[in-house]
Amino acid sequence: MIQEKERFKQLFLTALNHTTGKQVEEATDQDAYVALSTVLSNYIQEKHQDSVKQATSKQVYYFSMEFLIGGLLQTHLSYLTLEEDVTEVLQELGFSLDDIKACEHDPGLGNGGLGRLAACFLDSFASLNLSGNGVGLRYRYGLFNQRLENGRQFELPDHWLSEGYVWEFRKPSEAVEVSFGGQVESSVKNGKLQFELEHAEIVRAVPYDIPILGYQTDKVNTLRLWAAEPTSDQVLEKAKYEDFGSEMLTYQRKLEALTDFLYPDDSTDDGKILRLKQEYFLVSAGIQSILAKFEKRKLAWSNLPNFLSFHINDTHPAFLIPELMRILMDEKGLSWDDAWEITTQSVSYTNHTTLQEALETWPENWVKVFLPRIYMILVEMNERFCQQMWEKYPGEFDRIAQLALIADGQIKMAHVAIVGSHSINGVAKLHTEILKKKEMRLFYQAYPDRFNNKTNGISHRRWLMLANPYLTKLITEAIGDEWLQSPKQLIKLLDFQEDSIFLEKLQQVKLHNKQLLANYVQKEQGIVINPNAIFDVQVKRIHGYKRQLLNILHIIYLYRELKNDPNKSFPPRVFIFAGKAAPGYYFAKQIIQLIDTVAKIVNQDPIVKEKLQVVFLENFSNQLAEKIIPAADVSEQLSTATKEASGTGNMKMMMNGALTLGTMDGANIEIFDKVGKGNIYPFGLSAKEVLHFQQSNEYVARDIYHTDDRIRYAVDQLVKAEDFLENEGLFHDVYHALVTYNDEYFVLKDFADYAKQQARISNEYQERNKWTQKSLINIAYSGQFSSDDTIASYASDIWDLRE
Ligand SMILES: *Cc1c(COP(=O)(O)O)cnc(C)c1O
Repeated sequence: MIQEKERFKQLFLTALNHTTGKQVEEATDQDAYVALSTVLSNYIQEKHQDSVKQATSKQVYYFSMEFLIGGLLQTHLSYLTLEEDVTEVLQELGFSLDDIKACEHDPGLGNGGLGRLAACFLDSFASLNLSGNGVGLRYRYGLFNQRLENGRQFELPDHWLSEGYVWEFRKPSEAVEVSFGGQVESSVKNGKLQFELEHAEIVRAVPYDIPILGYQTDKVNTLRLWAAEPTSDQVLEKAKYEDFGSEMLTYQRKLEALTDFLYPDDSTDDGKILRLKQEYFLVSAGIQSILAKFEKRKLAWSNLPNFLSFHINDTHPAFLIPELMRILMDEKGLSWDDAWEITTQSVSYTNHTTLQEALETWPENWVKVFLPRIYMILVEMNERFCQQMWEKYPGEFDRIAQLALIADGQIKMAHVAIVGSHSINGVAKLHTEILKKKEMRLFYQAYPDRFNNKTNGISHRRWLMLANPYLTKLITEAIGDEWLQSPKQLIKLLDFQEDSIFLEKLQQVKLHNKQLLANYVQKEQGIVINPNAIFDVQVKRIHGYKRQLLNILHIIYLYRELKNDPNKSFPPRVFIFAGKAAPGYYFAKQIIQLIDTVAKIVNQDPIVKEKLQVVFLENFSNQLAEKIIPAADVSEQLSTATKEASGTGNMKMMMNGALTLGTMDGANIEIFDKVGKGNIYPFGLSAKEVLHFQQSNEYVARDIYHTDDRIRYAVDQLVKAEDFLENEGLFHDVYHALVTYNDEYFVLKDFADYAKQQARISNEYQERNKWTQKSLINIAYSGQFSSDDTIASYASDIWDLRE
């Protein structure tokens, strides 16, 4: 048993020797990391096999182009209750577990919220003892590493596999083949019309399985990531005719390149053919391997929806629908109607955005060329669907044109996903309402029963238990440890609202976490930040709609206030930013540069630096989020109302005791409803007002610029080297976006209200007990946002999934 200390020690020493060839005296922390993870990984592999054998009931497969799973060492030690013993054994051998943990690379196989949600869901499936597995791609390079030079973002490749990845298991015997291009040939066999693809290019899909542990359960699910490789036949064939050199390698590289990169943008699809092929590769490989397993059970195909559910995380895996149809008809001989029934009963879809530019479409011509059989099926889906709608809405030509799956040479993937599945969910109440009433209104009218809400959630184990051990300990001392299994029990913390000793301890925990973050900032950037200041945090992708610009303009305004009146009563603040901009998103990159420029001026100014500091932390990732979030006092959630479907960063910070400064958007609204208006700082236009201004053209940003001199001052700094930015016109485009192009995201419109709430925060933070009470109330209600709850409702309402 690995749980016996002496046994563990032997396993560790053997693994160290096998993986590095070294004795313990010569081993580095990195060597020890590999050895320790290898021991755990082997043990988990055995548990995994047992668990897979026992799982005979229904299985859910969660298809996602992104899984941002974060580091696993800490999770595994904790879930297997090994941490104490392992720490001791390693100490005896001269290692520190913390140093070893620091060697772990975080696989950046996601852009942000969407990928992290998929990872939190996997954690909840296993911890709830449910059979839910992930299906994704094993990108050779994760999301780029961000480096800043003079405030400019540079993107470096993230070669996360360079040291190997101990938690995965390659399964070449379960490889499948995925076809691209070629021609569809038809023939009649046994009186039936048959379709076959000829002269296609074949790519071998090889699965790598990562076992997913549950917290204190025996359940071990699978995250299966697919990698592209040439088939060995192809390589041999090439080698026969051509010299065994460069051409073969070029060919091999071309096929492998399919899974080289994760596309570094989660909100627009800039129409790359490689991305289209990646999407199909994911679903074709995934579905083929799942169906192969299902067939071994020798059940009727009509039984499939009772045993399998396929969930698609946004539209990126929506080719799953025509691919499942293709396999059931062309390979298994089912009729269209039977295949359609099985497909729609087993597929469900989550919509993640209503941003127009983020609704995925593919040019018909590309799909026709690269996925010819899939294209035929999509055309037929479209014809049958339009026919049905014609019967339902006779003569309503416009309506049907808007509903069509294919229009103007584009395939609308959201329409494909809605028509081909039995459930469509939004990710927060407001978002789902907008889907029903606005963005997908016509579909909601046609299929009202398919639409439902599932507000996103976060794993309280990762974002509280593992990320914030000091708070975890304090909570457990107060209310016991049941909350780890049933996070809603956190509500019991409300009993401690008046307990001044407890509140004092809660303050100490926060201060301690802030000190840890301050140490990190000093190590990384050489900036000494004051842990007694308010830590005001905005960490997330950099995007126009997320409005980092509002935050930084307000900082510019504060800077002037403090310059003018250095003795002004103002509790010290540290503004902390982190986030990546998509490489082609010029505006977002400008915002990073602006934050960096302001930071340099503010941090060097002897008059204000005691009260105001600005930090931009490079290379935001899951790992960095785990460092920053436990230290946050204020959680900035500034999206223009209607734009952030849910947000999950907001939930993570609430759970760690930060107070939200946010718009009434996405899940901020649900946070507001839980904690009540005294325990949150809401501001800005409502969704309704934003929609009104967008339609009426009544908003004139220039008027606000001219009437509010705080705003005029801050905005002018973007272009004038007045008393502040000497910036050589660097930020002209930002200025024009606000003033000339009428401020698409209502930054100026919301400024006054934002500044007012910020002033309230400065005042209320000084009443330490009251502030800590508010923080406690936020933690107490955060159990509502555990992804355990979210997954439990997906399981009962959408998948009919039980233990
Ligand atoms: C939670 C998380 C996000 C999502 O943050 P939002 O504030 O909801 O946009 C993005 N990136 C990482 C690394 C995260 O952990």
